Amino acid sequence: MKLRIIYDNEAKGGLESDWGFSCLVEAEDRKILFDTGASGEILSHNMRRLGIRREDIEIIALSHEHWDHIGGLEAVLHQNVAVYIPSSFTRGTKKRIEEKAAAVFEVSGPADIVPGVHTTGELGMMTKEQSLVLETKGGGGVVVLTGCAHPGLETILEAAKVFGELYGVIGGFHGFDKLKRLGGLKMIVPCHCTVRKEEIMRMYPEKAVWCGAGEIIEI
Ligand SMILES: [Zn+2]
Ligand SMILES: [Zn+2]
Repeated sequence: MKLRIIYDNEAKGGLESDWGFSCLVEAEDRKILFDTGASGEILSHNMRRLGIRREDIEIIALSHEHWDHIGGLEAVLHQNVAVYIPSSFTRGTKKRIEEKAAAVFEVSGPADIVPGVHTTGELGMMTKEQSLVLETKGGGGVVVLTGCAHPGLETILEAAKVFGELYGVIGGFHGFDKLKRLGGLKMIVPCHCTVRKEEIMRMYPEKAVWCGAGEIIEI
């Protein structure tokens, strides 16, 4: 499985950086876009630079309803795309998606999206959020892909265990500060809103990967 960070607070290779997050997951020949960043213009610019066409995206999964994750949505919606959203999304956002997508799936509990790609279901009390759970090649475990991790990274990782042994985590870790708890993982990619990104990079130099738009991660 191949992951490409398209939108992040940091960027390289001529891509634009901006507060927000988006990552393309390629599982076999299926392209799943996880979150859409804050701006459709920046998202489209970065996708063009990376040679990703909107029409090739088969599925969009949105972690939670904050502007820095769904702001770019209009730029990637098309008539053949299926969109997976937490069922707690507001009526207005659901309607906006329904008008332009082929199908909308409202997620509550853990579920399968395509072979090897699952959702934790919506977690959390205040801001409800879903994370993706991706199976690594060769059965090494699962990699968790988060948006902001508002429900708490530990809660998300715990929920992901129903799909396999934890291998790694990628995405926004928000206010997560129990950095030693990451010690058991084999891959750590702190992105977007992770407050203690640099500290994590220093603490786990052998397994932490610098995150930014343009980064490619094979799992
Ligand atoms: Zn958020
Ligand atoms: Zn965010």
